[in-house]
Amino acid sequence: MKLGLSDEERMVQETAREFADSEIAPVAANNDAEGRFPADIVKKLAELGFMGMLIPEKYGGAGLGNFCLVLALEEINRVCASTGVTMSVHNSLATSPIIKFGSDYLKETYLPKLATSEMLGAYALSEAEAGSDAASLKCRAVKDGDEYVVNGTKLWVTTGAHADLFIVMLRTDTEKRSKGISAFVVERDTPGFKVGKKENKLGLRGSSTTELIFEDCRLPAKNLIGEEGIGFVIAMATLDGGRIGIGTQAVGIAQACLDASVAYAKEREQFGRKIGEFQAIQWKIADMATAIEASRLMVYRAARMRDMDVPHTKEAAMAKLFASEAANRAAREAVQIHGGAGYLKDFPVERYFRDARITELYEGTSEVQRIVISRSYLQA
Ligand SMILES: Cc1cc2nc3c(=O)[nH]c(=O)nc-3n(C[C@H](O)[C@H](O)[C@H](O)COP(=O)(O)OP(=O)(O)OC[C@H]3O[C@@H](n4cnc5c(N)ncnc54)[C@H](O)[C@@H]3O)c2cc1C
Repeated sequence: MKLGLSDEERMVQETAREFADSEIAPVAANNDAEGRFPADIVKKLAELGFMGMLIPEKYGGAGLGNFCLVLALEEINRVCASTGVTMSVHNSLATSPIIKFGSDYLKETYLPKLATSEMLGAYALSEAEAGSDAASLKCRAVKDGDEYVVNGTKLWVTTGAHADLFIVMLRTDTEKRSKGISAFVVERDTPGFKVGKKENKLGLRGSSTTELIFEDCRLPAKNLIGEEGIGFVIAMATLDGGRIGIGTQAVGIAQACLDASVAYAKEREQFGRKIGEFQAIQWKIADMATAIEASRLMVYRAARMRDMDVPHTKEAAMAKLFASEAANRAAREAVQIHGGAGYLKDFPVERYFRDARITELYEGTSEVQRIVISRSYLQA
């Protein structure tokens, strides 16, 4: 169903669907198997305007909103979650803090390069001792004239091995907690900065996840986003958008699980009948499809609210929580419907099952989403 999409929105969705099916689907399993980052695909996504979807046209972006981003992201994630997270992080986590909070200098210097993916973006909040409790981060930036001297290590940075620009949350005041954090733009070739260990992961194997190491790294003060002390506000406002992106990733993965399950149920025969004729399989399909529709509506609503610039922290957390749990149920049932075949790499549901798992973990675990949601009721 088209759900009242405008011509522009439908065009974005169809373009993404066509590109996903013709260019990404044929290479997704191989990229996963070989742990290969889809650099060539990212370039083509940029040519379609999909790497600068939120960037205003005056900086070379597509000037579209979060709703269009969601429409495109679902299609990309339906065929490859590694490509999907690369696109989501670049658009939601790397470009949006500069668009929303950056100075004219930061906008003019970086947005045109991010729009074409000449610079690929990443976002570094997490540290070894600061995951769910991100406000306890320790990576330090000390002001020295018109520079900041940075020391410390960031962990788990998506696209870390390939990104050129990093949005990094650093501690500028040790006396304060969340109000002692500031956000910076860090270029990859800054002296004293290097990308560390690459993690070996269960899923998203085409996406790199790395450490970032700062050793007396000198950052120009003009790379501060906004002002000192508002870094945590920037980080959380940015994550509201990121969570809509991960909720959408979950919808894409779940839809892929459903599509594969329906096809298999119509084709596989046991006891002289298609397995889709058994009520046990029919109910799994019905539950998967219903949860996907509900998830999709939740991410649509959150994205529309973000575009309207109305508070949407709760709605983004709800969409991510619901969609990620639905995707994991869908992936589990998709493997079940495929029987033993679902456990083999010959069928894509094995990859969907591994990729779905991350959606309940990053950009805030499900427990953290529940904290965010309940806080909006109990502390209102
Ligand atoms: C593949 C991958 C990519 C990532 N990409 C990025 C990235 O690009 N940038 C970035 O900054 N980070 C990134 N992360 C980090 C990710 O956001 C964190 O892993 C996540 O926020 C959880 O933090 P943690 O791993 O330290 O878990 P912990 O915070 O140690 O949590 C462990 C468990 O305790 C639970 N828990 C913690 N506190 C509470 C509480 N108060 N109440 C109830 N339960 C609680 C958690 O829900 C979880 O179940 C990535 C992680 C992965 C695996």
